[in-house]
Amino acid sequence: MSFESLGLAPALLRALSEQGYTEPTPIQAAAIPLVLQGADLMAAAQTGTGKTAAFALPLLQRLSEKTQGDGRRPVRALVLTPTRELAAQVHDNLREYGRHLKMSSTVIFGGVGMGNQLTALRRGVDIIVATPGRLIDHMQQRSVDLSKIDVLVLDEADRMLDMGFLPALKRILNALPKQNRQTLLFSATFAPEIKALAREFMRDPREVSVTPANSVAALVTHHVHPVDAERKRDLLLHILSIDSRRQTLVFSRTKHGADKLVRHLEVSGIRAAAIHGNKSQNARTKALSDFKANKITVLVATDIAARGIDIDQLPVVINYDLPMVAEDYVHRIGRTGRAGSDGQAISLVSHDEAGLLRDIRRLLKDELNVSDMAGYEPSTPLRTDAAAPRPKQAQRQPQGQRPPRSGSRDGKPGQRPPASHRPHGHVNNGGGEHATGNKRRRNRRGGAASNKA
Ligand code: AMP
Repeated sequence: MSFESLGLAPALLRALSEQGYTEPTPIQAAAIPLVLQGADLMAAAQTGTGKTAAFALPLLQRLSEKTQGDGRRPVRALVLTPTRELAAQVHDNLREYGRHLKMSSTVIFGGVGMGNQLTALRRGVDIIVATPGRLIDHMQQRSVDLSKIDVLVLDEADRMLDMGFLPALKRILNALPKQNRQTLLFSATFAPEIKALAREFMRDPREVSVTPANSVAALVTHHVHPVDAERKRDLLLHILSIDSRRQTLVFSRTKHGADKLVRHLEVSGIRAAAIHGNKSQNARTKALSDFKANKITVLVATDIAARGIDIDQLPVVINYDLPMVAEDYVHRIGRTGRAGSDGQAISLVSHDEAGLLRDIRRLLKDELNVSDMAGYEPSTPLRTDAAAPRPKQAQRQPQGQRPPRSGSRDGKPGQRPPASHRPHGHVNNGGGEHATGNKRRRNRRGGAASNKA
Protein backbone atom coordinates (compact mmCIF):
# COMPACT_ATOMS: atom_id res chain seq x y z
CA MET A 1 0.00 0.00 0.00
CA SER A 2 1.36 3.42 -0.96
CA PHE A 3 0.27 6.97 -0.22
CA GLU A 4 -0.19 7.51 -3.98
CA SER A 5 -2.79 4.77 -4.14
CA LEU A 6 -4.88 6.59 -1.52
CA GLY A 7 -5.42 9.45 -3.95
CA LEU A 8 -3.29 12.09 -2.25
CA ALA A 9 -2.12 15.12 -4.23
CA PRO A 10 1.52 15.49 -5.35
CA ALA A 11 2.17 18.40 -2.96
CA LEU A 12 1.22 16.18 -0.02
CA LEU A 13 3.15 13.17 -1.34
CA ARG A 14 6.22 15.36 -1.56
CA ALA A 15 5.82 16.53 2.06
CA LEU A 16 5.35 12.92 3.19
CA SER A 17 8.49 11.73 1.50
CA GLU A 18 10.38 14.64 3.08
CA GLN A 19 9.05 13.41 6.43
CA GLY A 20 10.47 9.98 5.61
CA TYR A 21 7.09 8.26 5.64
CA THR A 22 7.13 5.45 3.10
CA GLU A 23 3.76 3.81 3.61
CA PRO A 24 0.50 4.64 5.32
CA THR A 25 -0.29 3.24 8.74
CA PRO A 26 -3.50 1.15 8.95
CA ILE A 27 -5.62 4.06 10.19
CA GLN A 28 -4.30 6.25 7.38
CA ALA A 29 -5.04 3.58 4.77
CA ALA A 30 -8.57 3.16 6.10
CA ALA A 31 -9.47 6.79 6.79
CA ILE A 32 -7.85 8.86 4.03
CA PRO A 33 -9.98 7.59 1.08
CA LEU A 34 -13.20 8.02 3.08
CA VAL A 35 -12.34 11.55 4.14
CA LEU A 36 -11.35 12.44 0.58
CA GLN A 37 -14.79 11.29 -0.55
CA GLY A 38 -16.33 13.75 1.90
CA ALA A 39 -17.80 11.19 4.31
CA ASP A 40 -18.28 11.82 8.02
CA LEU A 41 -16.01 9.50 9.94
CA MET A 42 -15.81 7.93 13.38
CA ALA A 43 -12.35 6.47 13.82
CA ALA A 44 -11.23 4.33 16.74
CA ALA A 45 -7.54 5.02 17.02
CA GLN A 46 -5.29 6.01 19.85
CA THR A 47 -2.19 8.17 19.94
CA GLY A 48 0.73 6.49 18.21
CA THR A 49 -1.24 4.98 15.34
CA GLY A 50 -0.61 7.88 12.94
CA LYS A 51 -4.14 9.24 13.46
CA THR A 52 -3.11 12.88 13.06
CA ALA A 53 -1.97 12.40 9.47
CA ALA A 54 -5.08 10.26 8.88
CA PHE A 55 -7.23 13.39 9.19
CA ALA A 56 -4.68 16.13 8.43
CA LEU A 57 -3.72 14.91 4.94
CA PRO A 58 -7.20 14.58 3.43
CA LEU A 59 -8.31 17.73 5.25
CA LEU A 60 -5.51 19.74 3.61
CA GLN A 61 -6.27 18.20 0.25
CA ARG A 62 -9.98 18.95 0.37
CA LEU A 63 -9.43 22.55 1.41
CA SER A 64 -6.77 23.13 -1.23
CA GLU A 65 -9.13 21.83 -3.93
CA LYS A 66 -11.77 24.41 -3.04
CA THR A 67 -10.13 27.72 -3.81
CA GLN A 68 -11.46 30.95 -2.40
CA GLY A 69 -12.55 33.15 -5.28
CA ASP A 70 -12.98 36.54 -3.63
CA GLY A 71 -9.56 36.70 -1.92
CA ARG A 72 -11.05 36.67 1.56
CA ARG A 73 -10.02 33.93 3.96
CA PRO A 74 -12.85 32.57 6.05
CA VAL A 75 -11.93 29.83 8.50
CA ARG A 76 -12.86 26.61 6.72
CA ALA A 77 -11.60 23.89 9.05
CA LEU A 78 -11.57 23.53 12.80
CA VAL A 79 -9.69 20.89 14.75
CA LEU A 80 -10.58 20.60 18.45
CA THR A 81 -8.22 18.85 20.86
CA PRO A 82 -8.37 18.28 24.61
CA THR A 83 -4.99 19.74 25.55
CA ARG A 84 -2.74 22.61 24.59
CA GLU A 85 0.15 20.29 23.87
CA LEU A 86 -1.89 18.20 21.49
CA ALA A 87 -3.22 21.34 19.78
CA ALA A 88 0.34 22.62 19.26
CA GLN A 89 1.43 19.24 17.96
CA VAL A 90 -1.46 18.83 15.53
CA HIS A 91 -0.82 22.35 14.28
CA ASP A 92 2.89 21.55 13.73
CA ASN A 93 1.89 18.43 11.79
CA LEU A 94 -0.57 20.37 9.62
CA ARG A 95 2.16 22.84 8.76
CA GLU A 96 4.62 20.09 7.92
CA TYR A 97 2.20 18.16 5.72
CA GLY A 98 0.89 21.34 4.11
CA ARG A 99 4.28 22.96 3.46
CA HIS A 100 3.86 22.79 -0.33
CA LEU A 101 0.29 24.08 -0.28
CA LYS A 102 -0.81 27.66 0.16
CA MET A 103 -2.76 27.09 3.32
CA SER A 104 -2.66 29.14 6.48
CA SER A 105 -3.43 27.93 9.97
CA THR A 106 -3.21 29.01 13.56
CA VAL A 107 -3.40 27.41 16.97
CA ILE A 108 -5.58 28.74 19.78
CA PHE A 109 -5.31 27.66 23.40
CA GLY A 110 -5.51 29.14 26.87
CA GLY A 111 -2.71 29.91 29.30
CA VAL A 112 -1.11 32.43 26.94
CA GLY A 113 -2.07 35.99 25.94
CA MET A 114 -4.79 36.65 23.36
CA GLY A 115 -2.71 39.14 21.33
CA ASN A 116 -1.01 36.84 18.83
CA GLN A 117 -4.18 34.81 18.40
CA LEU A 118 -6.21 37.94 17.66
CA THR A 119 -3.63 39.11 15.12
CA ALA A 120 -3.69 35.76 13.32
CA LEU A 121 -7.49 35.63 13.30
CA ARG A 122 -7.76 39.18 11.98
CA ARG A 123 -5.32 38.40 9.20
CA GLY A 124 -7.44 35.39 8.21
CA VAL A 125 -6.63 31.67 8.35
CA ASP A 126 -7.94 28.57 6.60
CA ILE A 127 -7.54 26.21 9.55
CA ILE A 128 -7.81 26.66 13.30
CA VAL A 129 -6.56 24.08 15.78
CA ALA A 130 -7.97 24.89 19.21
CA THR A 131 -8.79 23.72 22.68
CA PRO A 132 -12.48 24.30 23.48
CA GLY A 133 -12.18 26.77 26.38
CA ARG A 134 -10.13 29.44 24.62
CA LEU A 135 -12.08 29.05 21.39
CA ILE A 136 -15.25 29.89 23.33
CA ASP A 137 -13.52 32.97 24.74
CA HIS A 138 -12.90 34.11 21.16
CA MET A 139 -16.47 33.28 20.16
CA GLN A 140 -17.75 35.43 23.04
CA GLN A 141 -15.49 38.30 21.98
CA ARG A 142 -16.60 37.79 18.38
CA SER A 143 -12.99 37.58 17.32
CA VAL A 144 -13.58 34.35 15.44
CA ASP A 145 -16.16 33.57 12.75
CA LEU A 146 -17.01 29.89 12.47
CA SER A 147 -19.91 30.29 10.04
CA LYS A 148 -17.93 29.03 7.03
CA ILE A 149 -16.51 25.84 8.53
CA ASP A 150 -16.52 22.98 6.00
CA VAL A 151 -14.62 20.40 8.05
CA LEU A 152 -14.66 19.81 11.79
CA VAL A 153 -12.28 17.37 13.50
CA LEU A 154 -12.81 16.23 17.09
CA ASP A 155 -9.47 14.75 18.07
CA GLU A 156 -9.28 12.51 21.15
CA ALA A 157 -12.98 13.01 21.67
CA ASP A 158 -13.05 10.59 24.61
CA ARG A 159 -10.47 12.66 26.43
CA MET A 160 -12.37 15.87 25.77
CA LEU A 161 -15.44 14.33 27.36
CA ASP A 162 -13.40 12.95 30.25
CA MET A 163 -12.19 16.46 30.87
CA GLY A 164 -15.72 17.78 31.07
CA PHE A 165 -15.71 19.61 27.73
CA LEU A 166 -19.10 18.31 26.61
CA PRO A 167 -21.00 21.58 27.22
CA ALA A 168 -18.25 23.54 25.46
CA LEU A 169 -18.25 21.12 22.53
CA LYS A 170 -22.00 21.38 22.13
CA ARG A 171 -21.83 25.12 22.20
CA ILE A 172 -19.16 25.16 19.51
CA LEU A 173 -20.96 22.56 17.40
CA ASN A 174 -24.14 24.59 17.55
CA ALA A 175 -22.29 27.62 16.18
CA LEU A 176 -21.08 25.76 13.08
CA PRO A 177 -22.91 25.45 9.76
CA LYS A 178 -25.10 22.35 9.73
CA GLN A 179 -25.45 21.92 5.97
CA ASN A 180 -22.60 20.28 4.05
CA ARG A 181 -20.24 20.17 6.99
CA GLN A 182 -17.93 17.18 7.17
CA THR A 183 -17.26 15.93 10.71
CA LEU A 184 -14.41 13.61 11.67
CA LEU A 185 -14.31 12.15 15.14
CA PHE A 186 -11.22 10.36 16.47
CA SER A 187 -11.34 8.60 19.79
CA ALA A 188 -9.48 5.77 21.55
CA THR A 189 -12.75 4.44 22.95
CA PHE A 190 -16.41 4.79 22.00
CA ALA A 191 -18.28 5.28 25.23
CA PRO A 192 -22.06 5.78 24.89
CA GLU A 193 -21.78 9.54 25.35
CA ILE A 194 -19.41 9.76 22.34
CA LYS A 195 -21.88 7.80 20.26
CA ALA A 196 -24.64 10.12 21.42
CA LEU A 197 -22.58 13.13 20.36
CA ALA A 198 -22.00 11.53 16.98
CA ARG A 199 -25.72 10.81 16.54
CA GLU A 200 -26.56 14.41 17.29
CA PHE A 201 -23.91 16.13 15.19
CA MET A 202 -22.77 13.74 12.43
CA ARG A 203 -24.36 12.67 9.17
CA ASP A 204 -24.38 8.94 8.64
CA PRO A 205 -20.75 8.50 9.76
CA ARG A 206 -18.57 5.72 8.37
CA GLU A 207 -16.69 3.81 11.07
CA VAL A 208 -13.11 2.61 11.01
CA SER A 209 -11.18 0.93 13.79
CA VAL A 210 -7.56 -0.10 13.82
CA THR A 211 -6.70 -1.03 17.36
CA PRO A 212 -8.99 -2.67 19.82
CA ALA A 213 -9.58 -0.31 22.73
CA ASN A 214 -7.38 -0.90 25.73
CA SER A 215 -4.59 -2.61 23.82
CA VAL A 216 -0.98 -1.54 23.79
CA ALA A 217 1.49 -1.56 20.91
CA ALA A 218 2.70 -5.10 20.27
CA LEU A 219 6.33 -4.01 20.16
CA VAL A 220 6.38 -2.78 23.76
CA THR A 221 7.81 -5.03 26.47
CA HIS A 222 6.50 -4.46 29.97
CA HIS A 223 8.71 -4.88 33.02
CA VAL A 224 7.52 -4.55 36.58
CA HIS A 225 10.03 -4.22 39.40
CA PRO A 226 8.59 -4.63 42.89
CA VAL A 227 10.40 -2.29 45.31
CA ASP A 228 9.89 -0.77 48.75
CA ALA A 229 8.39 2.73 48.44
CA GLU A 230 11.35 4.38 50.16
CA ARG A 231 13.80 2.82 47.69
CA LYS A 232 11.97 3.84 44.51
CA ARG A 233 14.12 6.90 43.93
CA ASP A 234 17.33 4.87 44.19
CA LEU A 235 15.98 2.23 41.84
CA LEU A 236 14.98 4.92 39.34
CA LEU A 237 18.52 6.38 39.46
CA HIS A 238 19.92 2.89 38.98
CA ILE A 239 17.76 2.25 35.92
CA LEU A 240 18.57 5.66 34.45
CA SER A 241 22.29 5.05 35.00
CA ILE A 242 22.21 1.88 32.87
CA ASP A 243 22.17 4.16 29.83
CA SER A 244 22.58 7.74 30.97
CA ARG A 245 22.00 9.22 27.51
CA ARG A 246 18.73 7.44 26.89
CA GLN A 247 15.76 9.82 26.62
CA THR A 248 13.28 8.71 29.25
CA LEU A 249 9.75 9.81 30.06
CA VAL A 250 8.91 9.22 33.72
CA PHE A 251 5.34 9.31 35.00
CA SER A 252 4.49 10.63 38.42
CA ARG A 253 1.00 10.46 39.86
CA THR A 254 1.06 13.95 41.36
CA LYS A 255 2.36 17.38 40.39
CA HIS A 256 4.13 17.74 43.71
CA GLY A 257 5.73 14.31 43.27
CA ALA A 258 6.91 15.26 39.78
CA ASP A 259 8.62 18.43 41.06
CA LYS A 260 10.26 16.55 43.96
CA LEU A 261 11.53 13.89 41.61
CA VAL A 262 13.03 16.46 39.24
CA ARG A 263 14.88 18.14 42.13
CA HIS A 264 16.24 14.76 43.20
CA LEU A 265 17.35 13.86 39.68
CA GLU A 266 19.05 17.23 39.23
CA VAL A 267 20.93 16.83 42.51
CA SER A 268 22.11 13.48 41.16
CA GLY A 269 23.45 15.16 38.01
CA ILE A 270 20.65 14.16 35.64
CA ARG A 271 19.20 16.88 33.40
CA ALA A 272 15.47 16.73 34.00
CA ALA A 273 12.30 18.85 33.87
CA ALA A 274 8.71 18.39 34.93
CA ILE A 275 5.59 18.95 32.88
CA HIS A 276 2.26 19.24 34.66
CA GLY A 277 -0.82 21.42 34.98
CA ASN A 278 0.68 23.82 37.55
CA LYS A 279 3.46 24.85 35.18
CA SER A 280 2.96 27.87 32.96
CA GLN A 281 2.38 27.17 29.31
CA ASN A 282 5.81 28.59 28.52
CA ALA A 283 7.49 26.29 31.04
CA ARG A 284 5.65 23.30 29.60
CA THR A 285 6.53 24.17 26.02
CA LYS A 286 10.18 24.72 26.98
CA ALA A 287 10.40 21.43 28.90
CA LEU A 288 9.00 19.56 25.93
CA SER A 289 11.23 21.25 23.37
CA ASP A 290 14.32 20.78 25.58
CA PHE A 291 13.45 17.11 25.83
CA LYS A 292 12.96 16.78 22.09
CA ALA A 293 16.23 18.65 21.47
CA ASN A 294 18.09 16.35 23.86
CA LYS A 295 18.93 19.20 26.24
CA ILE A 296 17.37 17.21 29.05
CA THR A 297 17.35 13.45 29.27
CA VAL A 298 14.46 12.89 31.64
CA LEU A 299 11.00 14.42 31.39
CA VAL A 300 8.81 13.81 34.43
CA ALA A 301 5.12 14.13 33.58
CA THR A 302 1.71 13.69 35.12
CA ASP A 303 -0.92 11.85 33.11
CA ILE A 304 -2.88 14.81 31.90
CA ALA A 305 0.13 16.88 30.84
CA ALA A 306 1.56 13.96 28.93
CA ARG A 307 -1.63 13.23 27.07
CA GLY A 308 -1.00 13.40 23.37
CA ILE A 309 2.66 14.34 23.65
CA ASP A 310 4.32 13.06 20.53
CA ILE A 311 7.97 12.24 20.93
CA ASP A 312 9.39 10.20 18.09
CA GLN A 313 10.58 6.72 18.99
CA LEU A 314 10.88 7.16 22.71
CA PRO A 315 12.72 4.00 23.77
CA VAL A 316 11.53 3.81 27.35
CA VAL A 317 8.74 5.00 29.58
CA ILE A 318 9.04 4.55 33.34
CA ASN A 319 6.06 4.51 35.67
CA TYR A 320 7.54 5.86 38.86
CA ASP A 321 4.02 5.61 40.25
CA LEU A 322 1.34 3.44 38.75
CA PRO A 323 -1.70 5.31 37.44
CA MET A 324 -4.81 5.23 39.60
CA VAL A 325 -6.87 4.06 36.65
CA ALA A 326 -5.66 1.05 34.67
CA GLU A 327 -6.67 2.54 31.31
CA ASP A 328 -4.19 5.35 31.88
CA TYR A 329 -1.40 2.77 31.76
CA VAL A 330 -2.32 2.22 28.11
CA HIS A 331 -2.23 5.96 27.43
CA ARG A 332 1.15 6.33 29.15
CA ILE A 333 2.69 3.44 27.29
CA GLY A 334 1.38 4.84 24.01
CA ARG A 335 4.43 7.13 24.13
CA THR A 336 6.77 4.24 23.31
CA GLY A 337 6.83 1.55 20.63
CA ARG A 338 5.29 4.01 18.15
CA ALA A 339 4.96 3.60 14.42
CA GLY A 340 6.81 0.32 14.30
CA SER A 341 9.75 0.87 16.69
CA ASP A 342 10.49 -1.16 19.83
CA GLY A 343 9.73 0.22 23.26
CA GLN A 344 10.10 -0.63 26.91
CA ALA A 345 7.68 0.14 29.69
CA ILE A 346 9.15 -0.15 33.18
CA SER A 347 7.00 0.15 36.30
CA LEU A 348 8.31 0.54 39.83
CA VAL A 349 5.67 -0.91 42.09
CA SER A 350 5.55 -0.61 45.86
CA HIS A 351 3.31 -2.60 48.22
CA ASP A 352 0.65 0.08 48.40
CA GLU A 353 0.21 -0.10 44.61
CA ALA A 354 -0.27 -3.87 44.37
CA GLY A 355 -4.03 -3.44 43.79
CA LEU A 356 -3.40 -1.02 40.92
CA LEU A 357 -0.96 -3.51 39.38
CA ARG A 358 -3.63 -6.16 39.59
CA ASP A 359 -6.05 -3.94 37.63
CA ILE A 360 -3.44 -3.32 34.92
CA ARG A 361 -2.60 -7.02 34.63
CA ARG A 362 -6.25 -7.80 34.15
CA LEU A 363 -6.66 -5.11 31.52
CA LEU A 364 -3.60 -6.24 29.56
CA LYS A 365 -4.36 -9.92 30.08
CA ASP A 366 -1.16 -10.31 32.07
CA GLU A 367 1.38 -9.20 29.50
CA LEU A 368 3.70 -7.88 32.21
CA ASN A 369 7.03 -9.46 33.24
CA VAL A 370 7.38 -9.09 37.00
CA SER A 371 10.93 -9.46 38.32
CA ASP A 372 12.98 -8.11 41.21
CA MET A 373 15.87 -5.83 40.31
CA ALA A 374 19.00 -7.25 42.00
CA GLY A 375 19.92 -5.09 44.98
CA TYR A 376 16.44 -3.50 45.16
CA GLU A 377 14.29 -6.47 46.13
CA PRO A 378 11.30 -5.52 48.31
CA SER A 379 11.42 -6.52 51.99
CA THR A 380 8.26 -8.64 51.52
CA PRO A 381 6.76 -10.04 48.30
CA LEU A 382 4.08 -8.05 46.46
CA ARG A 383 0.55 -9.30 46.98
CA THR A 384 -1.55 -9.65 43.88
CA ASP A 385 -4.62 -11.30 45.38
CA ALA A 386 -8.09 -9.79 45.56
CA ALA A 387 -7.26 -7.85 48.73
CA ALA A 388 -4.08 -6.31 47.33
CA PRO A 389 -3.70 -2.80 48.72
CA ARG A 390 -4.03 0.50 46.83
CA PRO A 391 -2.65 3.89 47.72
CA LYS A 392 -4.89 5.48 50.37
CA GLN A 393 -6.09 8.26 48.12
CA ALA A 394 -7.09 5.71 45.50
CA GLN A 395 -10.01 4.36 47.50
CA ARG A 396 -12.97 4.88 45.23
CA GLN A 397 -16.35 5.75 46.60
CA PRO A 398 -19.02 3.32 45.57
CA GLN A 399 -20.96 4.59 42.57
CA GLY A 400 -24.02 6.57 43.38
CA GLN A 401 -22.75 8.04 46.65
CA ARG A 402 -21.04 11.00 45.11
CA PRO A 403 -23.00 14.20 45.01
CA PRO A 404 -23.86 15.33 41.50
CA ARG A 405 -21.70 18.13 40.19
CA SER A 406 -23.25 21.20 38.79
CA GLY A 407 -22.12 22.17 35.30
CA SER A 408 -19.37 24.75 35.19
CA ARG A 409 -19.51 27.90 33.19
CA ASP A 410 -19.67 27.51 29.47
CA GLY A 411 -16.49 26.82 27.67
CA LYS A 412 -14.77 25.37 30.67
CA PRO A 413 -14.95 21.75 31.73
CA GLY A 414 -18.20 20.82 33.38
CA GLN A 415 -20.20 17.76 34.21
CA ARG A 416 -19.77 14.36 32.72
CA PRO A 417 -21.85 11.26 33.21
CA PRO A 418 -20.90 8.84 35.97
CA ALA A 419 -18.46 6.06 35.19
CA SER A 420 -21.24 3.53 35.44
CA HIS A 421 -22.61 4.90 32.16
CA ARG A 422 -19.40 4.10 30.37
CA PRO A 423 -18.35 0.74 28.93
CA HIS A 424 -16.33 -1.61 31.12
CA GLY A 425 -16.64 0.86 33.98
CA HIS A 426 -14.04 2.90 32.14
CA VAL A 427 -13.02 5.84 34.30
CA ASN A 428 -10.36 7.93 32.74
CA ASN A 429 -8.18 10.41 34.44
CA GLY A 430 -9.98 13.67 33.98
CA GLY A 431 -7.02 15.85 34.74
CA GLY A 432 -6.27 14.02 37.95
CA GLU A 433 -2.95 15.42 38.98
CA HIS A 434 -3.77 15.91 42.60
CA ALA A 435 -2.39 14.33 45.65
CA THR A 436 -5.60 14.05 47.59
CA GLY A 437 -8.33 11.54 47.14
CA ASN A 438 -11.16 14.06 47.26
CA LYS A 439 -9.71 16.17 44.51
CA ARG A 440 -8.93 13.07 42.56
CA ARG A 441 -12.50 11.93 42.77
CA ARG A 442 -13.74 15.31 41.72
CA ASN A 443 -11.42 15.32 38.75
CA ARG A 444 -12.65 11.98 37.56
CA ARG A 445 -16.00 13.61 37.23
CA GLY A 446 -14.76 16.50 35.17
CA GLY A 447 -13.29 18.54 37.99
CA ALA A 448 -11.95 21.99 38.31
CA ALA A 449 -8.35 21.42 37.30
CA SER A 450 -9.16 19.88 33.96
CA ASN A 451 -8.92 23.06 31.95
CA LYS A 452 -5.31 23.30 33.04
CA ALA A 453 -4.43 20.65 30.50
P1 AMP B 1 -0.01 10.09 15.93
O1 AMP B 1 -0.76 8.83 16.23
O2 AMP B 1 -0.70 10.96 14.94
O3 AMP B 1 0.33 10.82 17.21
O4 AMP B 1 1.37 9.68 15.23
C1 AMP B 1 2.34 8.92 15.88
C2 AMP B 1 3.72 9.04 15.25
O5 AMP B 1 3.80 8.33 14.02
C3 AMP B 1 4.14 10.47 14.94
O6 AMP B 1 5.47 10.59 15.38
C4 AMP B 1 4.08 10.57 13.44
O7 AMP B 1 5.03 11.50 12.96
C5 AMP B 1 4.41 9.16 13.02
N1 AMP B 1 3.79 8.75 11.75
C6 AMP B 1 2.56 9.06 11.31
N2 AMP B 1 2.30 8.49 10.12
C7 AMP B 1 3.41 7.78 9.80
C8 AMP B 1 3.77 6.95 8.67
N3 AMP B 1 2.92 6.73 7.68
N4 AMP B 1 4.99 6.40 8.69
C9 AMP B 1 5.83 6.60 9.72
N5 AMP B 1 5.57 7.36 10.79
C10 AMP B 1 4.36 7.94 10.85
